[in-house]
Amino acid sequence: MAPTVAGVRTVDVLVVGAGLAGLHTARLLALRDLDVMVVDRRRSLSSGIRTTGIFVRRTFEDFDLPDRLLGPGVRDVLLYPPSRRSPIRLTSDRDEYRVADMAAVYAHAHRAAEAAGARVQLGVRYVSTSEGVVRLAGAEPVTARFIVGADGARSRVARDLGLDVNRRFLVGAELVHPIASGTTNPAFHCVLDPRLAPGYLGWVIDDGQHAHIGVAGYPHAMRTGIRHLLNDFAADAPGRAVPTGPIERRGGPIPVGGVLRRLACPAGLLVGDAAGAVSPLTAGGLDPCLRMSELAATVATAYLRTGDQHTLAHYAGHALRTRFRGRLLLRRMLSGIRSPAAAEAAVALLRGRAGRAVAGRILFGDGSFPDVEPPLAPALAEPGKHL
Ligand SMILES: Cc1cc2nc3c(=O)[nH]c(=O)nc-3n(C[C@H](O)[C@H](O)[C@H](O)COP(=O)(O)OP(=O)(O)OC[C@H]3O[C@@H](n4cnc5c(N)ncnc54)[C@H](O)[C@@H]3O)c2cc1C
Repeated sequence: MAPTVAGVRTVDVLVVGAGLAGLHTARLLALRDLDVMVVDRRRSLSSGIRTTGIFVRRTFEDFDLPDRLLGPGVRDVLLYPPSRRSPIRLTSDRDEYRVADMAAVYAHAHRAAEAAGARVQLGVRYVSTSEGVVRLAGAEPVTARFIVGADGARSRVARDLGLDVNRRFLVGAELVHPIASGTTNPAFHCVLDPRLAPGYLGWVIDDGQHAHIGVAGYPHAMRTGIRHLLNDFAADAPGRAVPTGPIERRGGPIPVGGVLRRLACPAGLLVGDAAGAVSPLTAGGLDPCLRMSELAATVATAYLRTGDQHTLAHYAGHALRTRFRGRLLLRRMLSGIRSPAAAEAAVALLRGRAGRAVAGRILFGDGSFPDVEPPLAPALAEPGKHL
Protein backbone atom coordinates (compact mmCIF):
# COMPACT_ATOMS: atom_id res chain seq x y z
CA MET A 1 0.00 0.00 0.00
CA ALA A 2 1.16 3.55 -0.72
CA PRO A 3 3.26 5.32 1.95
CA THR A 4 1.98 8.68 3.16
CA VAL A 5 3.94 11.69 1.94
CA ALA A 6 4.33 14.80 4.11
CA GLY A 7 2.15 17.72 2.98
CA VAL A 8 0.17 15.64 0.47
CA ARG A 9 -3.44 14.74 1.20
CA THR A 10 -4.02 11.00 1.72
CA VAL A 11 -7.15 9.08 0.75
CA ASP A 12 -7.92 5.39 1.15
CA VAL A 13 -9.10 5.01 -2.43
CA LEU A 14 -8.77 7.22 -5.47
CA VAL A 15 -11.28 6.22 -8.15
CA VAL A 16 -10.26 7.48 -11.59
CA GLY A 17 -13.33 7.89 -13.82
CA ALA A 18 -16.89 8.85 -12.93
CA GLY A 19 -18.66 6.61 -15.43
CA LEU A 20 -21.11 4.03 -14.13
CA ALA A 21 -18.33 1.65 -13.04
CA GLY A 22 -16.39 4.32 -11.12
CA LEU A 23 -19.39 5.92 -9.42
CA HIS A 24 -20.94 2.59 -8.41
CA THR A 25 -17.64 1.24 -7.04
CA ALA A 26 -16.98 4.53 -5.20
CA ARG A 27 -20.39 4.37 -3.55
CA LEU A 28 -19.89 0.77 -2.41
CA LEU A 29 -16.43 1.58 -1.00
CA ALA A 30 -17.68 4.70 0.81
CA LEU A 31 -20.57 2.68 2.27
CA ARG A 32 -17.88 0.47 3.80
CA ASP A 33 -16.47 3.54 5.61
CA LEU A 34 -13.45 4.08 3.37
CA ASP A 35 -12.26 7.59 2.52
CA VAL A 36 -12.97 7.72 -1.22
CA MET A 37 -12.20 10.40 -3.78
CA VAL A 38 -13.38 10.20 -7.40
CA VAL A 39 -11.90 12.28 -10.22
CA ASP A 40 -13.10 12.64 -13.78
CA ARG A 41 -11.66 14.78 -16.53
CA ARG A 42 -15.17 15.68 -17.75
CA ARG A 43 -16.47 18.95 -16.31
CA SER A 44 -20.06 17.73 -16.45
CA LEU A 45 -21.27 14.14 -16.43
CA SER A 46 -24.10 15.03 -18.78
CA SER A 47 -21.62 15.88 -21.54
CA GLY A 48 -19.45 13.51 -23.56
CA ILE A 49 -21.77 10.52 -23.01
CA ARG A 50 -20.50 7.49 -24.95
CA THR A 51 -23.21 4.94 -24.54
CA THR A 52 -26.66 4.26 -26.01
CA GLY A 53 -27.82 3.35 -22.53
CA ILE A 54 -29.66 0.11 -23.32
CA PHE A 55 -30.12 -1.81 -20.09
CA VAL A 56 -31.01 -5.49 -20.43
CA ARG A 57 -33.73 -7.15 -18.35
CA ARG A 58 -31.22 -8.86 -16.12
CA THR A 59 -29.82 -5.50 -15.02
CA PHE A 60 -33.10 -3.83 -14.23
CA GLU A 61 -34.22 -6.98 -12.39
CA ASP A 62 -31.00 -7.36 -10.35
CA PHE A 63 -30.05 -3.72 -9.64
CA ASP A 64 -31.98 -1.00 -7.99
CA LEU A 65 -32.27 1.49 -10.87
CA PRO A 66 -35.06 4.01 -10.29
CA ASP A 67 -37.86 3.46 -12.78
CA ARG A 68 -37.97 7.15 -13.78
CA LEU A 69 -34.44 6.86 -15.27
CA LEU A 70 -35.48 4.14 -17.71
CA GLY A 71 -37.60 4.48 -20.84
CA PRO A 72 -40.51 2.16 -21.62
CA GLY A 73 -39.85 -1.54 -22.09
CA VAL A 74 -38.88 -2.83 -25.54
CA ARG A 75 -40.07 -6.36 -26.45
CA ASP A 76 -39.66 -6.48 -30.24
CA VAL A 77 -36.39 -7.08 -32.06
CA LEU A 78 -36.23 -6.93 -35.87
CA LEU A 79 -33.16 -8.44 -37.50
CA TYR A 80 -32.42 -7.25 -41.05
CA PRO A 81 -30.10 -8.63 -43.73
CA PRO A 82 -28.13 -6.13 -45.88
CA SER A 83 -31.00 -5.99 -48.42
CA ARG A 84 -33.27 -4.87 -45.53
CA ARG A 85 -35.95 -7.15 -47.01
CA SER A 86 -38.20 -9.30 -44.79
CA PRO A 87 -36.64 -8.75 -41.36
CA ILE A 88 -36.95 -11.51 -38.77
CA ARG A 89 -39.18 -10.31 -35.94
CA LEU A 90 -38.66 -11.77 -32.48
CA THR A 91 -41.11 -10.80 -29.78
CA SER A 92 -40.70 -11.49 -26.08
CA ASP A 93 -43.59 -11.71 -23.65
CA ARG A 94 -41.75 -9.43 -21.21
CA ASP A 95 -39.78 -6.18 -21.33
CA GLU A 96 -36.28 -7.13 -22.50
CA TYR A 97 -34.63 -3.73 -22.94
CA ARG A 98 -35.05 -0.28 -21.50
CA VAL A 99 -33.12 2.71 -22.77
CA ALA A 100 -31.99 4.96 -19.96
CA ASP A 101 -31.71 8.71 -19.82
CA MET A 102 -27.96 8.41 -19.27
CA ALA A 103 -27.40 12.00 -18.14
CA ALA A 104 -29.97 11.34 -15.40
CA VAL A 105 -28.37 7.95 -14.59
CA TYR A 106 -24.96 9.58 -14.10
CA ALA A 107 -26.49 12.38 -12.01
CA HIS A 108 -28.23 9.76 -9.87
CA ALA A 109 -25.04 7.69 -9.45
CA HIS A 110 -23.08 10.87 -8.65
CA ARG A 111 -25.55 11.83 -5.91
CA ALA A 112 -25.58 8.28 -4.54
CA ALA A 113 -21.75 8.16 -4.36
CA GLU A 114 -21.66 11.51 -2.56
CA ALA A 115 -24.49 10.56 -0.22
CA ALA A 116 -22.44 7.50 0.77
CA GLY A 117 -19.51 9.80 1.61
CA ALA A 118 -17.33 9.76 -1.55
CA ARG A 119 -15.99 13.12 -2.80
CA VAL A 120 -16.42 13.54 -6.56
CA GLN A 121 -14.22 16.10 -8.31
CA LEU A 122 -15.03 16.90 -11.93
CA GLY A 123 -12.69 18.62 -14.37
CA VAL A 124 -9.75 16.77 -12.76
CA ARG A 125 -7.58 14.54 -14.93
CA TYR A 126 -5.45 11.68 -13.67
CA VAL A 127 -1.93 12.16 -15.03
CA SER A 128 0.33 9.54 -13.45
CA THR A 129 1.22 7.73 -10.27
CA SER A 130 4.65 7.20 -8.83
CA GLU A 131 5.73 5.96 -5.41
CA GLY A 132 2.24 6.36 -4.05
CA VAL A 133 1.73 9.95 -5.14
CA VAL A 134 -0.89 10.54 -7.81
CA ARG A 135 -0.43 13.56 -10.04
CA LEU A 136 -3.66 15.21 -11.18
CA ALA A 137 -4.30 18.03 -13.65
CA GLY A 138 -6.81 20.45 -12.14
CA ALA A 139 -6.18 19.51 -8.49
CA GLU A 140 -3.34 19.07 -5.99
CA PRO A 141 -1.59 15.67 -5.97
CA VAL A 142 -2.87 13.05 -3.53
CA THR A 143 -1.47 9.98 -1.87
CA ALA A 144 -3.82 7.06 -2.41
CA ARG A 145 -3.55 3.79 -0.49
CA PHE A 146 -5.32 2.16 -3.44
CA ILE A 147 -6.35 3.27 -6.94
CA VAL A 148 -9.43 2.06 -8.78
CA GLY A 149 -8.98 2.41 -12.53
CA ALA A 150 -12.47 3.13 -13.89
CA ASP A 151 -11.07 5.27 -16.67
CA GLY A 152 -12.60 3.45 -19.61
CA ALA A 153 -11.51 1.25 -22.49
CA ARG A 154 -8.06 2.80 -22.98
CA SER A 155 -7.17 2.94 -19.30
CA ARG A 156 -4.10 4.88 -18.35
CA VAL A 157 -4.32 3.61 -14.78
CA ALA A 158 -4.04 0.02 -16.08
CA ARG A 159 -0.80 0.87 -17.85
CA ASP A 160 0.66 2.77 -14.89
CA LEU A 161 -0.14 -0.07 -12.46
CA GLY A 162 1.32 -2.70 -14.81
CA LEU A 163 -2.06 -4.47 -15.14
CA ASP A 164 -3.48 -5.94 -18.36
CA VAL A 165 -4.79 -3.57 -21.01
CA ASN A 166 -7.50 -4.00 -23.66
CA ARG A 167 -6.19 -4.83 -27.11
CA ARG A 168 -9.27 -5.69 -29.17
CA PHE A 169 -11.80 -2.98 -29.86
CA LEU A 170 -14.88 -2.18 -31.85
CA VAL A 171 -15.57 1.47 -32.39
CA GLY A 172 -19.15 2.70 -32.11
CA ALA A 173 -20.97 5.92 -32.96
CA GLU A 174 -24.58 6.99 -32.74
CA LEU A 175 -27.06 9.81 -33.16
CA VAL A 176 -29.71 10.44 -30.52
CA HIS A 177 -32.74 12.64 -30.91
CA PRO A 178 -36.18 13.11 -29.42
CA ILE A 179 -39.24 11.92 -31.34
CA ALA A 180 -42.90 12.78 -30.99
CA SER A 181 -44.15 10.71 -28.09
CA GLY A 182 -46.69 8.00 -28.93
CA THR A 183 -46.00 8.04 -32.68
CA THR A 184 -44.09 4.73 -32.81
CA ASN A 185 -44.08 1.29 -31.23
CA PRO A 186 -40.90 0.80 -29.20
CA ALA A 187 -38.65 -1.67 -31.06
CA PHE A 188 -35.00 -2.61 -31.49
CA HIS A 189 -33.94 -2.77 -35.16
CA CYS A 190 -30.64 -4.53 -35.87
CA VAL A 191 -29.00 -4.59 -39.30
CA LEU A 192 -26.36 -7.18 -40.11
CA ASP A 193 -24.34 -5.59 -42.91
CA PRO A 194 -20.53 -5.75 -42.94
CA ARG A 195 -20.35 -2.77 -45.32
CA LEU A 196 -21.62 -0.46 -42.61
CA ALA A 197 -20.80 -2.34 -39.41
CA PRO A 198 -18.01 -4.90 -40.03
CA GLY A 199 -17.99 -7.40 -37.16
CA TYR A 200 -21.06 -5.98 -35.47
CA LEU A 201 -24.42 -4.34 -36.28
CA GLY A 202 -26.17 -1.16 -37.21
CA TRP A 203 -29.00 -0.40 -34.79
CA VAL A 204 -32.03 1.78 -34.29
CA ILE A 205 -33.67 1.65 -30.93
CA ASP A 206 -36.74 3.68 -30.46
CA ASP A 207 -38.08 3.74 -26.94
CA GLY A 208 -41.11 5.79 -27.90
CA GLN A 209 -39.47 9.02 -26.72
CA HIS A 210 -35.97 9.04 -28.22
CA ALA A 211 -34.44 7.36 -31.23
CA HIS A 212 -30.85 6.10 -31.13
CA ILE A 213 -29.31 5.31 -34.52
CA GLY A 214 -25.86 3.76 -34.40
CA VAL A 215 -23.20 1.63 -36.02
CA ALA A 216 -20.20 -0.19 -34.58
CA GLY A 217 -17.52 -2.37 -36.06
CA TYR A 218 -13.83 -3.09 -36.37
CA PRO A 219 -12.15 0.17 -37.39
CA HIS A 220 -9.57 -1.57 -39.62
CA ALA A 221 -12.38 -3.17 -41.67
CA MET A 222 -14.39 0.03 -42.23
CA ARG A 223 -14.23 1.31 -45.80
CA THR A 224 -14.59 4.95 -44.65
CA GLY A 225 -14.56 6.76 -41.31
CA ILE A 226 -17.27 5.79 -38.84
CA ARG A 227 -18.88 9.24 -39.08
CA HIS A 228 -19.54 8.69 -42.79
CA LEU A 229 -20.85 5.18 -42.20
CA LEU A 230 -23.18 6.48 -39.52
CA ASN A 231 -24.49 9.28 -41.75
CA ASP A 232 -25.07 6.78 -44.60
CA PHE A 233 -26.91 4.43 -42.28
CA ALA A 234 -28.98 7.20 -40.65
CA ALA A 235 -30.16 8.39 -44.08
CA ASP A 236 -32.29 5.27 -44.58
CA ALA A 237 -32.10 3.30 -41.34
CA PRO A 238 -35.11 1.04 -40.74
CA GLY A 239 -37.56 2.20 -38.12
CA ARG A 240 -36.10 5.70 -37.91
CA ALA A 241 -38.47 8.42 -36.76
CA VAL A 242 -38.48 12.15 -37.46
CA PRO A 243 -36.39 14.19 -35.01
CA THR A 244 -38.37 16.69 -32.97
CA GLY A 245 -35.35 18.25 -31.27
CA PRO A 246 -31.59 18.62 -31.40
CA ILE A 247 -29.44 15.69 -32.50
CA GLU A 248 -26.70 14.56 -30.11
CA ARG A 249 -23.67 12.52 -31.22
CA ARG A 250 -22.12 9.81 -29.04
CA GLY A 251 -19.37 7.29 -29.60
CA GLY A 252 -16.18 5.62 -28.49
CA PRO A 253 -14.16 2.41 -28.38
CA ILE A 254 -15.71 -0.83 -27.09
CA PRO A 255 -13.34 -3.51 -25.76
CA VAL A 256 -14.45 -6.94 -27.01
CA GLY A 257 -11.55 -9.21 -26.06
CA GLY A 258 -13.27 -10.34 -22.86
CA VAL A 259 -12.43 -9.64 -19.21
CA LEU A 260 -8.70 -9.08 -18.77
CA ARG A 261 -6.68 -11.59 -16.77
CA ARG A 262 -4.59 -9.44 -14.43
CA LEU A 263 -6.99 -6.95 -12.89
CA ALA A 264 -5.53 -6.25 -9.45
CA CYS A 265 -2.23 -5.60 -7.70
CA PRO A 266 -1.36 -4.13 -4.29
CA ALA A 267 -1.54 -0.60 -5.74
CA GLY A 268 -5.02 -0.91 -7.24
CA LEU A 269 -7.51 -2.66 -9.50
CA LEU A 270 -9.62 -2.10 -12.63
CA VAL A 271 -13.38 -1.96 -13.14
CA GLY A 272 -15.75 -1.49 -16.08
CA ASP A 273 -14.36 -1.03 -19.58
CA ALA A 274 -10.87 -0.65 -18.12
CA ALA A 275 -11.19 -4.28 -16.96
CA GLY A 276 -12.56 -5.42 -20.35
CA ALA A 277 -15.88 -6.09 -18.59
CA VAL A 278 -17.96 -6.05 -21.74
CA SER A 279 -19.84 -8.91 -23.34
CA PRO A 280 -17.65 -9.87 -26.31
CA LEU A 281 -20.73 -10.85 -28.30
CA THR A 282 -23.31 -8.13 -27.65
CA ALA A 283 -20.76 -5.39 -26.75
CA GLY A 284 -22.95 -4.50 -23.76
CA GLY A 285 -20.94 -3.12 -20.86
CA LEU A 286 -23.47 -1.52 -18.52
CA ASP A 287 -24.57 -4.74 -16.82
CA PRO A 288 -21.00 -6.10 -16.51
CA CYS A 289 -19.66 -2.90 -15.02
CA LEU A 290 -22.30 -2.90 -12.27
CA ARG A 291 -21.84 -6.63 -11.62
CA MET A 292 -18.05 -6.50 -11.40
CA SER A 293 -18.03 -3.34 -9.26
CA GLU A 294 -19.66 -5.27 -6.43
CA LEU A 295 -16.85 -7.83 -6.35
CA ALA A 296 -14.19 -5.13 -6.83
CA ALA A 297 -15.47 -3.17 -3.82
CA THR A 298 -15.65 -6.29 -1.66
CA VAL A 299 -12.10 -7.35 -2.50
CA ALA A 300 -10.61 -3.83 -2.22
CA THR A 301 -12.24 -3.32 1.17
CA ALA A 302 -10.99 -6.65 2.49
CA TYR A 303 -7.48 -5.88 1.25
CA LEU A 304 -7.42 -2.38 2.74
CA ARG A 305 -8.68 -3.67 6.10
CA THR A 306 -6.35 -6.63 6.40
CA GLY A 307 -3.36 -5.75 4.20
CA ASP A 308 -3.48 -9.39 3.07
CA GLN A 309 -2.42 -9.49 -0.60
CA HIS A 310 -3.98 -12.94 -1.03
CA THR A 311 -7.42 -11.34 -0.97
CA LEU A 312 -6.58 -9.66 -4.30
CA ALA A 313 -6.42 -13.06 -5.97
CA HIS A 314 -10.23 -13.16 -5.67
CA TYR A 315 -10.41 -10.36 -8.23
CA ALA A 316 -8.84 -11.98 -11.27
CA GLY A 317 -10.15 -12.37 -14.78
CA HIS A 318 -8.95 -15.95 -15.34
CA ALA A 319 -11.99 -17.64 -13.83
CA LEU A 320 -14.45 -15.40 -15.67
CA ARG A 321 -12.65 -15.79 -18.99
CA THR A 322 -13.24 -19.53 -19.03
CA ARG A 323 -16.98 -18.77 -18.97
CA PHE A 324 -16.55 -16.52 -22.00
CA ARG A 325 -15.44 -19.22 -24.41
CA GLY A 326 -18.84 -19.56 -26.10
CA ARG A 327 -19.30 -15.82 -26.40
CA LEU A 328 -15.79 -15.35 -27.80
CA LEU A 329 -16.51 -18.07 -30.37
CA LEU A 330 -19.75 -16.34 -31.44
CA ARG A 331 -17.82 -13.05 -31.65
CA ARG A 332 -15.35 -14.73 -34.02
CA MET A 333 -18.27 -16.01 -36.11
CA LEU A 334 -19.78 -12.51 -36.27
CA SER A 335 -16.39 -11.06 -37.28
CA GLY A 336 -16.16 -13.73 -39.99
CA ILE A 337 -19.22 -12.32 -41.80
CA ARG A 338 -17.31 -10.16 -44.28
CA SER A 339 -19.58 -9.84 -47.34
CA PRO A 340 -23.23 -8.87 -47.85
CA ALA A 341 -23.85 -12.36 -49.31
CA ALA A 342 -22.52 -13.99 -46.12
CA ALA A 343 -24.72 -11.69 -44.02
CA GLU A 344 -27.81 -12.57 -46.14
CA ALA A 345 -26.99 -16.27 -45.63
CA ALA A 346 -26.51 -15.81 -41.86
CA VAL A 347 -29.89 -14.08 -41.49
CA ALA A 348 -31.49 -16.78 -43.67
CA LEU A 349 -30.13 -19.42 -41.26
CA LEU A 350 -31.77 -17.62 -38.35
CA ARG A 351 -35.19 -17.73 -40.06
CA GLY A 352 -35.74 -21.43 -39.34
CA ARG A 353 -37.12 -22.71 -36.05
CA ALA A 354 -33.66 -23.65 -34.70
CA GLY A 355 -32.18 -20.34 -35.84
CA ARG A 356 -34.94 -18.34 -34.18
CA ALA A 357 -34.39 -20.28 -30.96
CA VAL A 358 -30.66 -19.41 -31.03
CA ALA A 359 -31.38 -15.75 -31.80
CA GLY A 360 -33.98 -15.67 -29.01
CA ARG A 361 -31.48 -17.10 -26.52
CA ILE A 362 -28.87 -14.48 -27.45
CA LEU A 363 -31.28 -11.55 -27.50
CA PHE A 364 -33.63 -12.47 -24.66
CA GLY A 365 -31.56 -14.86 -22.55
CA ASP A 366 -29.75 -14.06 -19.32
CA GLY A 367 -26.33 -14.98 -20.60
CA SER A 368 -24.81 -11.76 -21.94
CA PHE A 369 -22.34 -11.67 -19.03
CA PRO A 370 -21.69 -14.37 -16.44
CA ASP A 371 -22.65 -13.93 -12.80
CA VAL A 372 -19.77 -12.59 -10.79
CA GLU A 373 -20.10 -14.58 -7.62
CA PRO A 374 -17.26 -13.89 -5.23
CA PRO A 375 -15.69 -17.26 -4.36
CA LEU A 376 -14.98 -15.72 -1.00
CA ALA A 377 -14.94 -16.84 2.56
CA PRO A 378 -17.93 -15.43 4.50
CA ALA A 379 -15.64 -13.00 6.31
CA LEU A 380 -14.63 -11.49 2.97
CA ALA A 381 -18.08 -11.50 1.47
CA GLU A 382 -19.49 -9.40 4.28
CA PRO A 383 -16.59 -7.19 5.30
CA GLY A 384 -18.80 -4.62 6.98
CA LYS A 385 -19.89 -7.21 9.55
CA HIS A 386 -16.89 -9.42 9.92
CA LEU A 387 -13.67 -7.51 9.31
C1 LIG B 1 -21.50 3.95 -29.01
C2 LIG B 1 -21.59 3.01 -27.82
C3 LIG B 1 -22.83 2.52 -27.44
C4 LIG B 1 -22.92 1.65 -26.36
N1 LIG B 1 -24.15 1.21 -26.00
C5 LIG B 1 -24.28 0.38 -24.95
C6 LIG B 1 -25.57 -0.04 -24.54
O1 LIG B 1 -26.57 0.42 -25.07
N2 LIG B 1 -25.66 -0.92 -23.50
C7 LIG B 1 -24.57 -1.40 -22.87
O2 LIG B 1 -24.72 -2.23 -21.94
N3 LIG B 1 -23.32 -1.00 -23.22
C8 LIG B 1 -23.16 -0.11 -24.24
N4 LIG B 1 -21.91 0.34 -24.58
C9 LIG B 1 -20.79 -0.03 -23.71
C10 LIG B 1 -20.93 0.74 -22.37
O3 LIG B 1 -21.28 2.07 -22.64
C11 LIG B 1 -19.64 0.75 -21.56
O4 LIG B 1 -19.23 -0.59 -21.41
C12 LIG B 1 -19.84 1.37 -20.17
O5 LIG B 1 -20.42 2.64 -20.29
C13 LIG B 1 -18.51 1.44 -19.46
O6 LIG B 1 -18.60 2.22 -18.29
P1 LIG B 1 -17.25 2.66 -17.56
O7 LIG B 1 -17.70 3.40 -16.35
O8 LIG B 1 -16.34 1.52 -17.40
O9 LIG B 1 -16.52 3.61 -18.59
P2 LIG B 1 -16.87 5.10 -19.13
O10 LIG B 1 -18.36 5.34 -19.09
O11 LIG B 1 -16.15 5.21 -20.40
O12 LIG B 1 -16.24 6.03 -18.02
C14 LIG B 1 -14.86 6.29 -17.96
C15 LIG B 1 -14.69 7.65 -17.34
O13 LIG B 1 -13.29 7.87 -17.10
C16 LIG B 1 -13.01 9.20 -17.39
N5 LIG B 1 -11.56 9.29 -17.64
C17 LIG B 1 -10.85 8.67 -18.61
N6 LIG B 1 -9.54 8.97 -18.50
C18 LIG B 1 -9.43 9.80 -17.43
C19 LIG B 1 -8.33 10.45 -16.79
N7 LIG B 1 -7.07 10.32 -17.24
N8 LIG B 1 -8.58 11.22 -15.71
C20 LIG B 1 -9.85 11.38 -15.23
N9 LIG B 1 -10.93 10.79 -15.79
C21 LIG B 1 -10.71 10.00 -16.88
C22 LIG B 1 -13.86 9.53 -18.61
O14 LIG B 1 -14.08 10.93 -18.72
C23 LIG B 1 -15.14 8.77 -18.28
O15 LIG B 1 -16.09 9.58 -17.61
C24 LIG B 1 -21.76 1.24 -25.65
C25 LIG B 1 -20.51 1.76 -26.01
C26 LIG B 1 -20.42 2.64 -27.09
C27 LIG B 1 -19.09 3.19 -27.45
